[in-house]
Amino acid sequence: MKIVETVEELQTIIKKTKKNESVIGFVPTMGFLHEGHLSLVEQAKKDCDFVVMSIFVNPLQFGPNEDFDRYPKNFERDRQLANNAGVDLLFYPNVTEMYPTEPAMKVIVHEGVDVLCGKSRPGHFDGVATVVLKLFNMVTPDRAYFGMKDAQQVAVIEKLIRDFNLQVVLVGCPTLREEDGLAKSSRNVNLTAEERQEASSIYKSLQLAKKLILNGEHKAALIKAEMTTFLQKNSSGAIDYIELLSYPDLHQQEQLEGKVIIAIAQQYSKARLIDNIVLEI
Ligand code: AMP
Repeated sequence: MKIVETVEELQTIIKKTKKNESVIGFVPTMGFLHEGHLSLVEQAKKDCDFVVMSIFVNPLQFGPNEDFDRYPKNFERDRQLANNAGVDLLFYPNVTEMYPTEPAMKVIVHEGVDVLCGKSRPGHFDGVATVVLKLFNMVTPDRAYFGMKDAQQVAVIEKLIRDFNLQVVLVGCPTLREEDGLAKSSRNVNLTAEERQEASSIYKSLQLAKKLILNGEHKAALIKAEMTTFLQKNSSGAIDYIELLSYPDLHQQEQLEGKVIIAIAQQYSKARLIDNIVLEI
């Protein structure tokens, strides 16, 4: 596996790789890798000839009181995991390499950000869309792999590709979970032991919603109320949101129908966790 820290070297290698008509797969990450990230690599390896992973904690997508400074890092461990997973090129730029000058412009996301994380993290998806557009231009992948754990991010990237005519196929991959159902996340290490136990109630409340829906309950407000009660009873985390929306449009629905997302964000003492399930009703 080649480790590359500059855009120039990255682009030289990409150019060479493209001469062989290789299909390039791209897995953007913020590092502190876990099996969720590696499952994206696994899928990319199945579909592509050359897999690029990036590790970059993008300051642009963090708000002033968010966890940019304490986002977990361990490059040596990441390097080994990426190598073992079969990544061909690991792109590991620093902030100056990604933003050598004060940016004169950024992508502003207008649609689908008045709900979920877009609502509670203003500007977050502008930062995500901006860095992903830059990374796509640097890597010029044929296919890009994103996790459905960040379903709103997938919806935003879909529109980024559509609106800017980007020539990349977006692949949304399923959420990998711990044995008790907690979605794997780099931020899970910032939970206390007690919070870690409680955090499985996030997935359990999603399963509770699914069960209610399968039993014929389609009223969004009622399902949300049941989930709220369950979470309040079983965990100390503060509920940031519980939302039931159409997917991928992310519109409110009183009566759930069609493809819907049930999504939760919960704030623990040092970690904000998100999770969701998407169902066809
Ligand atoms: P992050 O490093 O958190 O920005 O995540 C990088 C990519 O991995 C994103 O596309 C995430 O959606 C995806 N990802 C994160 N956690 C999981 C998970 N538990 N299962 C599958 N994909 C994930």
